[in-house]
Amino acid sequence: MIYFSGTVITQDGAVEGYVGLEDGMVAEVSEGICPAEPLARGIIVPPMVNGHTHCADSDLTVPNGISLCELVGPDGVKEKYLKESIPEKITEGMKRFSKLAHINGIGTFIDFREGGAEGSMILRRAVPGAFILGRPSSEEFDPNELDDILRYADGIQLSGINDVPAPYSEAVADYAVRSGKMFAIHASEGSREDIDSILALSPSFLVHMASAERSDLLRCADEDVPIVSCPRSNKFFGLTPPLAMMNECNNTVILGTDNAMLCNPDMREEARQYFSFLMDQKGGLENIWGAMVLNGRKLLYDWKRIGLRPGMDADITVLPSEDGTAGGMLRSSERVLRYRQTKKGD
Ligand SMILES: [Zn+2]
Repeated sequence: MIYFSGTVITQDGAVEGYVGLEDGMVAEVSEGICPAEPLARGIIVPPMVNGHTHCADSDLTVPNGISLCELVGPDGVKEKYLKESIPEKITEGMKRFSKLAHINGIGTFIDFREGGAEGSMILRRAVPGAFILGRPSSEEFDPNELDDILRYADGIQLSGINDVPAPYSEAVADYAVRSGKMFAIHASEGSREDIDSILALSPSFLVHMASAERSDLLRCADEDVPIVSCPRSNKFFGLTPPLAMMNECNNTVILGTDNAMLCNPDMREEARQYFSFLMDQKGGLENIWGAMVLNGRKLLYDWKRIGLRPGMDADITVLPSEDGTAGGMLRSSERVLRYRQTKKGD
């Protein structure tokens, strides 16, 4: 048995103890003193779900001082880049992004993929384990296009309710939900949007809510719709997500790293910015393991695969922390350890 000791993130939160791996499985998760010398100490978590990415733009150099609209809006720098780049170049960027995410302890990432069915196909081939939400590119609602996207993608997304006519977003969301697939959308990023129209689309989650007000957050909590927050990306555009208020409103928050051209896939870095905003807003870190680890896994997996427990695949991440606390994890500059053990004979 190979042991890791420290703070273990289980289904029910953090416990002081150890994890034992044997024959490709998590064999033991216990509180208390580790029975043998551990291979590493720190905060032991299952692979994290990066709640929001756009991995196709990883090779784009972002011009200084550019606005949100100029960069990612219609006919913006990013859209031109994706149109003009050959698929091979995009594919290479996606593969590099995925490798870096893996090293940083990320098990999968939920990517908002542009470019219709072809866009989703390119990502599925480059990174088979990505969780892909594809975006239709037709101007009129076209169920055939959505079927084509769903051959490669796990669900459908739209950039925002104000980017397309309401009947279009309603038809797209309705089709995805009726197909039993996930639907998600950016919401209230740079400016506040109408929460009732957004929630009427039955989204599985919303991304950003950086410009949302308390009543919007309460509506999300009431309807049990998680919020994926990307604090580093928000900061880049001069936005301050109301993270302390999200905690007060009992929102389910998931961290995401957003555009690869802006932020590397590193959940610890994202958590540092999350903490920095929380400090400014007089909020605390009590929900950090939910936002970093558990809530993203809840979105994608059944209850047996949320926190670390015996029977899971032996695939863990150890986040260094000199004192075993979340604060120690955020302060640490030591490398994250990703450890995978395969079954004998594999
Ligand atoms: Zn996004």
